[in-house]
Amino acid sequence: MPVYCADALVLRTFRYGEADRIVVFLTADRGKKRGVAKHASRSRRRFGAALEPLTRGRATYMEREGRELVRLDRIEPVGTPLEAAAGRSPDDGARLLGYAAYFAELLDEWAPNDAPNERLYRLGAAVGSALDGAAGVEILARYFELWLLRLEGVYPAIDRCARCDGPLGGSARLSRIDRGYVCRACPSDGPVVSGAALELLRLLRRTTPRQAAGAGAPREALRELERAHHALIGMHLEKPLRSMRVIKELGSLS
Ligand SMILES: [Zn+2]
Repeated sequence: MPVYCADALVLRTFRYGEADRIVVFLTADRGKKRGVAKHASRSRRRFGAALEPLTRGRATYMEREGRELVRLDRIEPVGTPLEAAAGRSPDDGARLLGYAAYFAELLDEWAPNDAPNERLYRLGAAVGSALDGAAGVEILARYFELWLLRLEGVYPAIDRCARCDGPLGGSARLSRIDRGYVCRACPSDGPVVSGAALELLRLLRRTTPRQAAGAGAPREALRELERAHHALIGMHLEKPLRSMRVIKELGSLS
């Protein structure tokens, strides 16, 4: 059985039998894998806190011929969202973990099985590592959504109207029919994206996750981008995300 050792991100886990867990993880070099972690529900030594969604670590796993499931021997965590949540109030910590699970779920939805996508891995790892310095986890979420959709080639233009190709100007709407931003002269009842929100998008396009996490942004612009991005994600995934509901229930960070 070939043994692999790779930088990886934990995306999600679920129980498998009495004591085992299935771990879905994204490797930097060989794409998304599903592995059986033997006795993971009991073995703190080998897995400990490493199974929290969006944990970064070194994964050691074995592939078995003709089997989709690999055998996950261990994950040595390099960084986990639990550390980022530790220094916060219980409510803020819970929200931060909610966002980490949201990022992990989006990666899980978009990452193909067994096909390497190093840029997707790097985005997830960089956003995961920016969580601990995140004054504003919401701006980090908008950053993550923007870049995920850009890497997948589906983020719409933010300078030209998707319908008439004229300049977007001071504000726009997200049009479901056009799957893009349209100017105010083109009729649409989609969510409004103000000039401040478009300006924020331009900023997020040229910053690192850590810079984005530390940057301030008008609350209303963040709200507008949240609505627009969730609509875009909905258009492309065509299914609701579990973690998106959890985040709504947890409310915004204080
Ligand atoms: Zn137009």
